[in-house]
Amino acid sequence: MADNDNDNDNANTNGGGNGDGATRFGSCCEDLRDVLASDDFTPLIGVEENGILLMSVGCVEIEDEGLAWLDHAVLFCPFCGTKLQDRDEIEARTGD
Ligand SMILES: [Zn+2]
Repeated sequence: MADNDNDNDNANTNGGGNGDGATRFGSCCEDLRDVLASDDFTPLIGVEENGILLMSVGCVEIEDEGLAWLDHAVLFCPFCGTKLQDRDEIEARTGD
């Protein structure tokens, strides 16, 4: 790939996360970057405010609230298999 767009290979900056998922998690492959940065559709993968990458694994109907999405933390990129997060990091960020 010889495209010369701005160089965001160092996406592993900790803290100061401003919810820019494509910057934080999109460095492993184009597929994930495209999904996170998409304006054309609503991705089922996204970055929470606390900086954790989550994937919707299903939806459930909750009485009085309608449909709710079930999210699950993603440890490895679903497209290329790169490790993106580990449980310790997720626990640290969620404070569990
Ligand atoms: Zn990837």
